[in-house]
Amino acid sequence: MTTTWSGSHTFGAATVHRPRTLEELQELVAVSRRVRALGSRHSFNDLADSPGDLVVLDALAATDGVAVDPVARTATAPAGMRYGELARELHARGWALHAMASLPHIGLAGAVATATHGSGDHARNLAAGVAGLELVGADGTLRVLDRGDDELAGSVVALGALGVVTRVTFDVEPTYDVAQTVDLDLPWDAALEHFDEITASADSVSLFTDWSGPAVQQVWRKARVRAGDERAEVERYGARPATAKKHPIAGIDPVACTPQLGEPGPWHERLPHFRLDFTPSSGDELQSEYLLPRRHAAAALAAVRALSSVVTPLLLVSEVRTVAADDLWLSTAHGVDTVALHFTWKQVPEVAHVLPTIEDALAPFDARPHWGKLFADRERDLARLYPRWDDFRALVARRDPGGVFTNDFLARHVL
Ligand SMILES: Cc1cc2nc3c(=O)[nH]c(=O)nc-3n(C[C@H](O)[C@H](O)[C@H](O)COP(=O)(O)OP(=O)(O)OC[C@H]3O[C@@H](n4cnc5c(N)ncnc54)[C@H](O)[C@@H]3O)c2cc1C
Repeated sequence: MTTTWSGSHTFGAATVHRPRTLEELQELVAVSRRVRALGSRHSFNDLADSPGDLVVLDALAATDGVAVDPVARTATAPAGMRYGELARELHARGWALHAMASLPHIGLAGAVATATHGSGDHARNLAAGVAGLELVGADGTLRVLDRGDDELAGSVVALGALGVVTRVTFDVEPTYDVAQTVDLDLPWDAALEHFDEITASADSVSLFTDWSGPAVQQVWRKARVRAGDERAEVERYGARPATAKKHPIAGIDPVACTPQLGEPGPWHERLPHFRLDFTPSSGDELQSEYLLPRRHAAAALAAVRALSSVVTPLLLVSEVRTVAADDLWLSTAHGVDTVALHFTWKQVPEVAHVLPTIEDALAPFDARPHWGKLFADRERDLARLYPRWDDFRALVARRDPGGVFTNDFLARHVL
Protein backbone atom coordinates (compact mmCIF):
# COMPACT_ATOMS: atom_id res chain seq x y z
CA MET A 1 0.00 0.00 0.00
CA THR A 2 1.37 3.45 -0.91
CA THR A 3 1.50 6.12 1.76
CA THR A 4 2.84 9.65 2.01
CA TRP A 5 6.52 9.84 2.99
CA SER A 6 5.63 10.26 6.68
CA GLY A 7 2.83 7.66 6.59
CA SER A 8 0.34 10.46 7.42
CA HIS A 9 -2.01 9.40 4.60
CA THR A 10 -2.57 6.03 2.91
CA PHE A 11 -3.50 6.51 -0.74
CA GLY A 12 -6.82 4.98 -1.69
CA ALA A 13 -6.05 4.94 -5.42
CA ALA A 14 -6.56 1.54 -7.02
CA THR A 15 -3.39 1.40 -9.15
CA VAL A 16 -0.13 3.35 -9.37
CA HIS A 17 1.06 3.50 -13.00
CA ARG A 18 4.69 4.07 -14.05
CA PRO A 19 4.68 4.97 -17.75
CA ARG A 20 8.04 4.65 -19.51
CA THR A 21 7.29 6.95 -22.42
CA LEU A 22 5.34 10.15 -22.98
CA GLU A 23 3.04 8.31 -25.40
CA GLU A 24 2.27 5.68 -22.76
CA LEU A 25 1.36 8.45 -20.30
CA GLN A 26 -0.81 10.26 -22.85
CA GLU A 27 -2.67 7.07 -23.67
CA LEU A 28 -3.20 6.31 -19.99
CA VAL A 29 -4.64 9.77 -19.25
CA ALA A 30 -6.82 9.73 -22.39
CA VAL A 31 -8.59 6.51 -21.33
CA SER A 32 -8.77 7.27 -17.58
CA ARG A 33 -11.96 8.44 -15.95
CA ARG A 34 -10.00 9.59 -12.88
CA VAL A 35 -6.23 9.83 -12.58
CA ARG A 36 -3.79 12.11 -10.76
CA ALA A 37 -0.05 12.61 -10.69
CA LEU A 38 1.87 11.61 -7.59
CA GLY A 39 5.25 13.21 -6.95
CA SER A 40 7.78 12.15 -4.32
CA ARG A 41 4.94 11.78 -1.72
CA HIS A 42 6.29 14.48 0.63
CA SER A 43 2.93 16.15 1.23
CA PHE A 44 1.18 15.33 4.49
CA ASN A 45 -2.50 15.42 3.53
CA ASP A 46 -4.62 13.67 0.88
CA LEU A 47 -3.93 16.31 -1.79
CA ALA A 48 -2.19 13.91 -4.18
CA ASP A 49 -4.70 11.06 -3.82
CA SER A 50 -7.14 10.03 -6.54
CA PRO A 51 -10.51 8.29 -6.48
CA GLY A 52 -9.24 6.46 -9.58
CA ASP A 53 -5.59 5.77 -10.35
CA LEU A 54 -2.28 7.49 -9.69
CA VAL A 55 0.62 7.99 -12.05
CA VAL A 56 4.26 8.38 -11.02
CA LEU A 57 6.81 9.82 -13.44
CA ASP A 58 10.10 8.44 -12.10
CA ALA A 59 10.54 5.96 -14.97
CA LEU A 60 9.87 8.73 -17.48
CA ALA A 61 12.32 11.03 -15.68
CA ALA A 62 15.03 8.37 -15.83
CA THR A 63 15.04 8.47 -19.64
CA ASP A 64 14.83 12.27 -19.97
CA GLY A 65 17.60 14.82 -19.41
CA VAL A 66 18.13 18.43 -18.37
CA ALA A 67 18.40 20.98 -21.20
CA VAL A 68 19.96 24.38 -20.41
CA ASP A 69 19.32 27.40 -22.63
CA PRO A 70 22.16 29.79 -21.71
CA VAL A 71 20.71 32.65 -23.75
CA ALA A 72 17.23 32.51 -22.24
CA ARG A 73 18.81 31.54 -18.89
CA THR A 74 16.42 28.66 -18.39
CA ALA A 75 16.73 24.92 -17.75
CA THR A 76 14.09 22.34 -18.68
CA ALA A 77 13.95 19.16 -16.61
CA PRO A 78 11.71 16.09 -16.30
CA ALA A 79 8.87 16.65 -13.83
CA GLY A 80 9.61 13.48 -11.85
CA MET A 81 13.21 14.50 -11.10
CA ARG A 82 14.12 15.49 -7.54
CA TYR A 83 15.25 19.06 -6.80
CA GLY A 84 18.58 17.83 -5.47
CA GLU A 85 19.32 15.93 -8.68
CA LEU A 86 18.49 18.95 -10.86
CA ALA A 87 20.60 21.17 -8.60
CA ARG A 88 23.67 18.91 -8.85
CA GLU A 89 23.42 18.85 -12.61
CA LEU A 90 22.88 22.60 -12.93
CA HIS A 91 25.83 23.37 -10.65
CA ALA A 92 28.09 21.01 -12.62
CA ARG A 93 27.18 22.99 -15.74
CA GLY A 94 27.75 26.39 -14.08
CA TRP A 95 24.13 27.27 -13.28
CA ALA A 96 21.90 27.69 -10.22
CA LEU A 97 18.32 28.16 -9.03
CA HIS A 98 17.28 31.19 -6.96
CA ALA A 99 16.00 29.18 -3.99
CA MET A 100 15.54 25.70 -2.55
CA ALA A 101 13.29 24.19 0.11
CA SER A 102 14.57 22.72 3.37
CA LEU A 103 15.09 19.34 1.75
CA PRO A 104 16.34 18.48 -1.75
CA HIS A 105 14.48 15.15 -1.91
CA ILE A 106 11.18 16.59 -3.23
CA GLY A 107 10.07 16.20 -6.85
CA LEU A 108 10.07 19.20 -9.22
CA ALA A 109 6.42 19.14 -10.31
CA GLY A 110 5.10 18.15 -6.88
CA ALA A 111 6.99 20.95 -5.14
CA VAL A 112 5.88 23.73 -7.45
CA ALA A 113 2.28 22.39 -7.49
CA THR A 114 1.95 23.28 -3.77
CA ALA A 115 3.97 26.56 -3.76
CA THR A 116 6.84 25.00 -1.83
CA HIS A 117 9.26 27.65 -0.61
CA GLY A 118 12.58 28.24 1.11
CA SER A 119 13.35 31.45 2.97
CA GLY A 120 14.51 34.96 2.09
CA ASP A 121 13.10 38.48 1.98
CA HIS A 122 13.91 38.55 -1.73
CA ALA A 123 13.48 34.82 -2.42
CA ARG A 124 10.18 34.01 -4.08
CA ASN A 125 8.90 30.46 -3.75
CA LEU A 126 10.08 27.66 -6.04
CA ALA A 127 6.98 27.95 -8.24
CA ALA A 128 7.75 31.59 -9.01
CA GLY A 129 10.96 30.44 -10.71
CA VAL A 130 9.00 28.39 -13.26
CA ALA A 131 9.26 29.85 -16.76
CA GLY A 132 7.28 27.12 -18.50
CA LEU A 133 5.51 23.77 -18.23
CA GLU A 134 4.66 20.84 -20.44
CA LEU A 135 1.60 18.93 -19.32
CA VAL A 136 -0.70 16.18 -20.48
CA GLY A 137 -4.28 17.45 -20.33
CA ALA A 138 -7.51 15.58 -19.62
CA ASP A 139 -7.88 14.37 -23.23
CA GLY A 140 -4.31 13.10 -23.34
CA THR A 141 -2.88 15.88 -25.48
CA LEU A 142 0.41 17.55 -24.58
CA ARG A 143 0.27 21.30 -23.95
CA VAL A 144 3.23 23.64 -23.62
CA LEU A 145 2.93 26.84 -21.57
CA ASP A 146 5.45 29.65 -21.24
CA ARG A 147 5.47 33.15 -19.79
CA GLY A 148 3.88 34.49 -22.95
CA ASP A 149 0.80 32.50 -22.02
CA ASP A 150 -1.72 34.07 -19.61
CA GLU A 151 -2.57 30.65 -18.20
CA LEU A 152 0.93 29.96 -16.87
CA ALA A 153 0.36 32.02 -13.68
CA GLY A 154 -2.66 29.82 -12.95
CA SER A 155 -1.05 26.55 -13.96
CA VAL A 156 2.10 26.29 -11.84
CA VAL A 157 0.61 26.11 -8.34
CA ALA A 158 -2.22 23.95 -9.67
CA LEU A 159 -2.50 21.19 -7.03
CA GLY A 160 -2.49 18.57 -9.78
CA ALA A 161 -5.86 19.84 -11.03
CA LEU A 162 -4.89 20.77 -14.58
CA GLY A 163 -3.07 17.68 -15.78
CA VAL A 164 0.10 15.65 -15.46
CA VAL A 165 3.14 17.91 -15.78
CA THR A 166 5.90 16.14 -17.72
CA ARG A 167 8.57 18.85 -17.94
CA VAL A 168 9.27 22.01 -15.98
CA THR A 169 11.35 24.96 -17.23
CA PHE A 170 13.09 27.01 -14.54
CA ASP A 171 14.82 30.37 -14.56
CA VAL A 172 18.53 29.84 -13.87
CA GLU A 173 21.43 32.13 -13.01
CA PRO A 174 25.20 31.60 -12.86
CA THR A 175 26.18 29.27 -10.03
CA TYR A 176 27.12 30.89 -6.70
CA ASP A 177 28.48 29.97 -3.29
CA VAL A 178 26.70 30.29 0.03
CA ALA A 179 27.96 30.25 3.63
CA GLN A 180 25.68 29.07 6.42
CA THR A 181 25.90 30.06 10.08
CA VAL A 182 23.76 29.34 13.14
CA ASP A 183 23.16 31.58 16.16
CA LEU A 184 21.72 30.34 19.42
CA ASP A 185 19.25 31.81 21.92
CA LEU A 186 17.98 34.98 20.28
CA PRO A 187 15.88 36.74 22.96
CA TRP A 188 12.21 36.80 21.87
CA ASP A 189 11.92 40.51 22.68
CA ALA A 190 14.70 41.26 20.20
CA ALA A 191 13.25 38.85 17.62
CA LEU A 192 9.92 40.68 17.70
CA GLU A 193 11.37 44.19 17.85
CA HIS A 194 13.99 43.64 15.13
CA PHE A 195 12.24 41.04 12.97
CA ASP A 196 12.78 43.00 9.75
CA GLU A 197 16.50 43.61 10.40
CA ILE A 198 17.04 39.95 11.33
CA THR A 199 15.35 38.50 8.24
CA ALA A 200 17.25 41.03 6.10
CA SER A 201 20.61 40.01 7.61
CA ALA A 202 21.26 37.25 5.02
CA ASP A 203 19.82 35.98 1.73
CA SER A 204 17.92 33.28 3.63
CA VAL A 205 17.09 33.39 7.34
CA SER A 206 15.17 30.83 9.41
CA LEU A 207 14.20 31.11 13.07
CA PHE A 208 13.77 27.76 14.84
CA THR A 209 11.69 27.78 18.02
CA ASP A 210 9.46 25.62 20.17
CA TRP A 211 7.63 28.85 21.23
CA SER A 212 8.49 28.32 24.92
CA GLY A 213 10.96 30.23 27.06
CA PRO A 214 12.50 33.68 26.64
CA ALA A 215 14.56 32.97 23.48
CA VAL A 216 14.28 31.66 19.91
CA GLN A 217 16.52 28.57 20.03
CA GLN A 218 18.30 28.90 16.66
CA VAL A 219 18.74 31.46 13.86
CA TRP A 220 20.04 29.98 10.58
CA ARG A 221 21.57 32.40 8.08
CA LYS A 222 22.54 31.53 4.50
CA ALA A 223 24.46 34.28 2.69
CA ARG A 224 25.83 34.37 -0.84
CA VAL A 225 29.62 34.81 -0.85
CA ARG A 226 32.17 35.66 -3.52
CA ALA A 227 35.82 34.59 -3.38
CA GLY A 228 37.88 37.21 -1.58
CA ASP A 229 34.84 38.84 0.08
CA GLU A 230 35.31 39.94 3.67
CA ARG A 231 32.52 38.42 5.74
CA ALA A 232 30.57 41.28 7.36
CA GLU A 233 29.74 40.80 11.04
CA VAL A 234 25.98 40.59 11.58
CA GLU A 235 24.14 42.23 14.47
CA ARG A 236 23.16 39.32 16.72
CA TYR A 237 20.66 41.11 18.98
CA GLY A 238 21.80 39.16 22.04
CA ALA A 239 22.17 35.72 20.37
CA ARG A 240 25.52 33.88 20.39
CA PRO A 241 27.19 32.11 17.47
CA ALA A 242 27.08 28.31 17.51
CA THR A 243 30.55 26.78 17.75
CA ALA A 244 29.48 23.30 16.59
CA LYS A 245 27.11 22.05 13.87
CA LYS A 246 23.41 22.00 14.85
CA HIS A 247 20.26 20.08 13.87
CA PRO A 248 17.09 22.20 14.08
CA ILE A 249 15.53 19.64 16.44
CA ALA A 250 17.22 19.56 19.85
CA GLY A 251 19.07 16.33 20.58
CA ILE A 252 19.27 15.04 16.98
CA ASP A 253 22.67 14.33 15.38
CA PRO A 254 23.33 17.07 12.78
CA VAL A 255 25.02 14.64 10.37
CA ALA A 256 22.09 14.94 7.91
CA CYS A 257 22.35 18.75 7.86
CA THR A 258 24.21 20.79 5.24
CA PRO A 259 27.58 22.33 6.30
CA GLN A 260 27.46 25.27 8.73
CA LEU A 261 30.03 27.31 10.70
CA GLY A 262 30.45 29.72 7.78
CA GLU A 263 32.24 27.27 5.48
CA PRO A 264 31.38 28.45 1.93
CA GLY A 265 30.17 25.94 -0.63
CA PRO A 266 27.88 25.52 -3.65
CA TRP A 267 24.36 26.98 -3.32
CA HIS A 268 22.63 23.58 -3.50
CA GLU A 269 24.71 22.23 -0.60
CA ARG A 270 23.79 25.16 1.68
CA LEU A 271 20.30 26.47 0.76
CA PRO A 272 18.52 23.24 1.83
CA HIS A 273 18.90 22.43 5.53
CA PHE A 274 19.32 18.72 4.76
CA ARG A 275 21.70 16.77 2.54
CA LEU A 276 20.39 14.83 -0.45
CA ASP A 277 22.29 11.67 0.48
CA PHE A 278 20.73 11.48 3.96
CA THR A 279 17.15 10.96 5.14
CA PRO A 280 16.22 14.33 6.68
CA SER A 281 14.61 12.63 9.69
CA SER A 282 12.91 9.37 10.56
CA GLY A 283 9.73 10.53 8.88
CA ASP A 284 7.96 10.06 12.19
CA GLU A 285 6.45 13.53 12.05
CA LEU A 286 3.58 15.66 10.79
CA GLN A 287 3.81 19.17 9.38
CA SER A 288 1.58 22.25 9.16
CA GLU A 289 2.36 25.74 7.93
CA TYR A 290 0.53 29.05 7.72
CA LEU A 291 1.66 31.91 5.48
CA LEU A 292 0.54 35.47 6.12
CA PRO A 293 1.41 39.06 5.11
CA ARG A 294 4.73 39.89 6.76
CA ARG A 295 3.43 43.20 8.07
CA HIS A 296 1.62 41.03 10.65
CA ALA A 297 4.75 39.03 11.56
CA ALA A 298 5.29 40.34 15.10
CA ALA A 299 1.60 40.09 16.03
CA ALA A 300 1.26 36.59 14.57
CA LEU A 301 4.40 35.35 16.33
CA ALA A 302 3.13 36.78 19.61
CA ALA A 303 -0.24 35.07 19.05
CA VAL A 304 1.35 31.63 18.60
CA ARG A 305 3.72 32.20 21.51
CA ALA A 306 0.68 32.78 23.68
CA LEU A 307 -0.43 29.23 22.76
CA SER A 308 2.85 27.65 23.84
CA SER A 309 1.23 25.62 26.63
CA VAL A 310 -0.80 23.62 24.06
CA VAL A 311 1.58 23.83 21.08
CA THR A 312 5.02 23.13 22.58
CA PRO A 313 4.23 19.67 24.04
CA LEU A 314 3.18 18.36 20.59
CA LEU A 315 6.03 19.94 18.69
CA LEU A 316 9.38 18.71 17.38
CA VAL A 317 10.25 22.22 16.19
CA SER A 318 8.81 25.29 14.45
CA GLU A 319 10.48 27.33 11.73
CA VAL A 320 9.75 30.94 10.80
CA ARG A 321 10.74 32.01 7.28
CA THR A 322 10.03 34.85 4.86
CA VAL A 323 8.95 34.55 1.21
CA ALA A 324 8.83 37.33 -1.39
CA ALA A 325 5.54 38.11 -3.16
CA ASP A 326 4.66 36.60 -6.54
CA ASP A 327 1.73 36.70 -8.96
CA LEU A 328 0.82 32.99 -9.21
CA TRP A 329 -2.91 32.60 -8.67
CA LEU A 330 -2.88 29.96 -5.90
CA SER A 331 0.53 30.84 -4.48
CA THR A 332 0.59 31.20 -0.70
CA ALA A 333 2.69 34.35 -1.29
CA HIS A 334 0.33 35.74 -3.97
CA GLY A 335 0.53 39.52 -4.07
CA VAL A 336 2.22 40.08 -0.73
CA ASP A 337 5.58 39.69 0.98
CA THR A 338 4.97 36.86 3.36
CA VAL A 339 6.05 35.31 6.64
CA ALA A 340 5.65 31.54 7.00
CA LEU A 341 5.01 29.89 10.38
CA HIS A 342 5.86 26.21 10.10
CA PHE A 343 5.23 23.43 12.65
CA THR A 344 6.95 20.02 12.63
CA TRP A 345 4.77 17.95 14.94
CA LYS A 346 5.20 14.68 16.74
CA GLN A 347 3.08 12.10 14.94
CA VAL A 348 0.28 12.04 17.53
CA PRO A 349 -3.53 12.41 17.14
CA GLU A 350 -3.64 15.47 19.44
CA VAL A 351 -2.18 17.53 16.58
CA ALA A 352 -5.58 17.50 14.84
CA HIS A 353 -7.10 19.18 17.92
CA VAL A 354 -4.56 21.97 18.19
CA LEU A 355 -4.74 23.06 14.52
CA PRO A 356 -8.13 24.84 14.86
CA THR A 357 -6.78 26.72 17.90
CA ILE A 358 -3.76 27.94 15.93
CA GLU A 359 -5.94 28.82 12.94
CA ASP A 360 -8.32 30.84 15.13
CA ALA A 361 -5.33 32.74 16.54
CA LEU A 362 -3.98 33.45 13.03
CA ALA A 363 -7.34 34.20 11.39
CA PRO A 364 -7.09 37.99 11.92
CA PHE A 365 -3.90 37.93 9.84
CA ASP A 366 -5.39 36.25 6.73
CA ALA A 367 -3.21 33.15 7.11
CA ARG A 368 -3.08 30.84 4.09
CA PRO A 369 -2.42 27.16 4.92
CA HIS A 370 0.39 25.43 3.00
CA TRP A 371 -1.34 23.30 0.36
CA GLY A 372 0.78 20.21 1.04
CA LYS A 373 0.67 20.22 4.85
CA LEU A 374 -1.99 19.48 7.45
CA PHE A 375 -4.64 22.04 8.27
CA ALA A 376 -7.92 21.71 10.18
CA ASP A 377 -10.59 19.83 8.28
CA ARG A 378 -13.46 22.27 8.66
CA GLU A 379 -15.53 24.77 6.71
CA ARG A 380 -13.27 27.59 5.59
CA ASP A 381 -13.36 30.37 3.07
CA LEU A 382 -10.07 30.03 1.23
CA ALA A 383 -11.51 32.00 -1.71
CA ARG A 384 -11.35 35.17 0.40
CA LEU A 385 -7.55 34.80 0.66
CA TYR A 386 -6.82 34.40 -3.06
CA PRO A 387 -7.83 37.27 -5.41
CA ARG A 388 -7.53 35.00 -8.49
CA TRP A 389 -9.55 32.14 -6.93
CA ASP A 390 -12.45 32.36 -9.39
CA ASP A 391 -10.04 32.54 -12.32
CA PHE A 392 -8.41 29.31 -11.14
CA ARG A 393 -11.76 27.55 -10.83
CA ALA A 394 -12.74 28.75 -14.31
CA LEU A 395 -9.42 27.47 -15.67
CA VAL A 396 -10.03 24.04 -14.15
CA ALA A 397 -13.57 23.98 -15.56
CA ARG A 398 -12.18 24.84 -19.01
CA ARG A 399 -9.23 22.46 -19.00
CA ASP A 400 -10.79 19.52 -17.18
CA PRO A 401 -14.58 19.72 -17.64
CA GLY A 402 -15.04 16.03 -16.85
CA GLY A 403 -13.10 16.19 -13.59
CA VAL A 404 -10.45 13.63 -14.59
CA PHE A 405 -7.94 15.26 -12.22
CA THR A 406 -10.27 16.08 -9.30
CA ASN A 407 -10.27 14.36 -5.95
CA ASP A 408 -11.74 14.71 -2.46
CA PHE A 409 -9.21 17.35 -1.37
CA LEU A 410 -10.03 19.59 -4.33
CA ALA A 411 -13.75 19.03 -3.86
CA ARG A 412 -13.53 19.99 -0.17
CA HIS A 413 -11.22 22.97 -0.40
CA VAL A 414 -11.12 24.40 -3.92
CA LEU A 415 -13.77 23.32 -6.38
C1 LIG B 1 10.69 16.57 5.45
C2 LIG B 1 9.89 17.55 4.65
C3 LIG B 1 10.38 18.84 4.51
C4 LIG B 1 9.64 19.79 3.76
N1 LIG B 1 10.15 21.04 3.62
C5 LIG B 1 9.44 21.99 2.97
C6 LIG B 1 9.94 23.32 2.83
O1 LIG B 1 11.07 23.62 3.20
N2 LIG B 1 9.14 24.23 2.23
C7 LIG B 1 7.89 23.94 1.79
O2 LIG B 1 7.19 24.83 1.31
N3 LIG B 1 7.41 22.67 1.86
C8 LIG B 1 8.16 21.71 2.44
N4 LIG B 1 7.68 20.42 2.50
C9 LIG B 1 6.41 20.11 1.82
C10 LIG B 1 6.68 19.62 0.38
O3 LIG B 1 7.62 20.42 -0.26
C11 LIG B 1 5.40 19.68 -0.45
O4 LIG B 1 4.43 18.91 0.16
C12 LIG B 1 5.61 19.24 -1.91
O5 LIG B 1 4.40 19.35 -2.61
C13 LIG B 1 6.14 17.83 -2.01
O6 LIG B 1 6.45 17.51 -3.35
P1 LIG B 1 6.17 16.02 -3.86
O7 LIG B 1 6.86 15.82 -5.15
O8 LIG B 1 6.46 15.07 -2.76
O9 LIG B 1 4.61 16.12 -4.15
P2 LIG B 1 3.43 15.10 -3.73
O10 LIG B 1 3.21 15.24 -2.26
O11 LIG B 1 3.68 13.77 -4.27
O12 LIG B 1 2.22 15.81 -4.49
C14 LIG B 1 1.84 17.13 -4.17
C15 LIG B 1 0.93 17.69 -5.26
O13 LIG B 1 1.66 17.80 -6.48
C16 LIG B 1 0.94 17.19 -7.52
N5 LIG B 1 1.89 16.65 -8.48
C17 LIG B 1 2.97 15.88 -8.25
N6 LIG B 1 3.57 15.55 -9.41
C18 LIG B 1 2.87 16.15 -10.40
C19 LIG B 1 2.96 16.17 -11.81
N7 LIG B 1 3.93 15.54 -12.47
N8 LIG B 1 2.01 16.86 -12.51
C20 LIG B 1 1.02 17.50 -11.88
N9 LIG B 1 0.88 17.52 -10.54
C21 LIG B 1 1.79 16.84 -9.81
C22 LIG B 1 0.13 16.10 -6.84
O14 LIG B 1 -0.98 15.72 -7.63
C23 LIG B 1 -0.28 16.80 -5.58
O15 LIG B 1 -1.39 17.62 -5.84
C24 LIG B 1 8.39 19.43 3.19
C25 LIG B 1 7.93 18.12 3.31
C26 LIG B 1 8.68 17.18 4.02
C27 LIG B 1 8.18 15.78 4.13
